[in-house]
Amino acid sequence: MDFGLTDEQELLLSSLDELLERECPESYVADLDLHHQPPTSFRKAMHEAGFMSLGFPEEYGGMPTDAVTLVLLAERVCRQGLNNGFGLELLQAMDILEFGSTEQKDEILGLLSNGEVPFALGFTEPGAGSDNSAMATTAVHHDGMVTFKGTKTLITNALQSKYLLLMARNPEVEDKRHAISMYLVPMDAPGLTTNQLDKIVWHISDSCEIFLDDVTLPESCLVGVKGNGFKQLMRNFEFERLVISATCLGLAQCAFDDAASYAAQRVQFGRPIGDFQLIQLKLTDMAIKLENIRNFVYRTAWLLDQDLPLRSQGALCKRYAAMAAFEVADEAMQIFGGVGVTVGTRVSRLWRDLRGHRFGGGTDEIMVHIAGRQIVKDHA
Ligand SMILES: Cc1cc2nc3c(=O)[nH]c(=O)nc-3n(C[C@H](O)[C@H](O)[C@H](O)COP(=O)(O)OP(=O)(O)OC[C@H]3O[C@@H](n4cnc5c(N)ncnc54)[C@H](O)[C@@H]3O)c2cc1C
Repeated sequence: MDFGLTDEQELLLSSLDELLERECPESYVADLDLHHQPPTSFRKAMHEAGFMSLGFPEEYGGMPTDAVTLVLLAERVCRQGLNNGFGLELLQAMDILEFGSTEQKDEILGLLSNGEVPFALGFTEPGAGSDNSAMATTAVHHDGMVTFKGTKTLITNALQSKYLLLMARNPEVEDKRHAISMYLVPMDAPGLTTNQLDKIVWHISDSCEIFLDDVTLPESCLVGVKGNGFKQLMRNFEFERLVISATCLGLAQCAFDDAASYAAQRVQFGRPIGDFQLIQLKLTDMAIKLENIRNFVYRTAWLLDQDLPLRSQGALCKRYAAMAAFEVADEAMQIFGGVGVTVGTRVSRLWRDLRGHRFGGGTDEIMVHIAGRQIVKDHA
């Protein structure tokens, strides 16, 4: 078993380090968080340096890249303290590149190359969270047009995005498995309105309710095949869980590094607090959790690269990574003492942002729902 990095991976990571130092210092991230702004200039710099084309197919100017390398990069960006800094755009674009029309592909890639967020993903509804089958937003096809009616909620980056990748039900289809389709809806379409939700996590991404009140568009807004929406969405879910896990790993490593440095220099009772065994116990258990998350993430990525079936692995990985990473940040905050809960201390932001990952991409409990069923099935 080889745990080493390849020369290419070392090279990529060291050029990413240089870019992060230049374009994404802590002062920049803290300012974005404080003012609830997206990291647009950083995204643009990543694009210009070629990082954003990694993982994209060659015919779209990209460079096919293995999953292990992509999670290494996502981990590294988040280790800088930036939430969701790399990987999710690629995932989103993949939905369009795989299933979209030529016009949709050109439009989305053009936006990406400008450092913009091309679309927000809209599947959650007030009455349909974990239970997607309860989705009530409708898409009615008529005379070459399609009319949408319904409400979506908790939609990340809705205000930053030009489009909404909307999941909606075709009410005339009786078979529930073939009743959900995927559409690319302009956020400025007449009848579409938003209400921003004030949340305590992920300040660099807005979250919105989206109201669709008889929004009517040409049928060309359909992405892929009518009735295949759910299947299309699921196609990249395993990789999404992996990218979220790598994000959690990077943020937790950042919290750990801050806490360990603080423990080495903060003096109480005449000694650095890192001299106390209770603090060393925390740091030791945090280091073990980080090692476990890292192994889980890298091995899951490796399985993907080998085209081996993931079965319950993606859900197990996301559940463990999101929960363990939050526990690491929580202990990091404890090591900082009272100053850890103040806005000026980075660990408070990492703690908040990691909490959000226990919901986004599927909750801790839904990961059990997915993995648990698979485990029982495998042993039946
Ligand atoms: C930061 C953030 C970003 C998000 N971004 C997006 C986005 O971009 N697009 C989008 O469409 N959605 C997004 N969501 C929504 C997210 O996908 C949902 O919050 C999630 O699917 C859970 O749905 P819910 O909040 O309605 O909770 P519910 O489904 O109502 O669940 C409530 C509680 O019950 C538990 N529960 C539910 N069913 C079961 C079960 N069968 N067994 C055991 N426990 C269960 C849940 O785990 C949870 O603890 C985001 C959420 C957050 C917090």
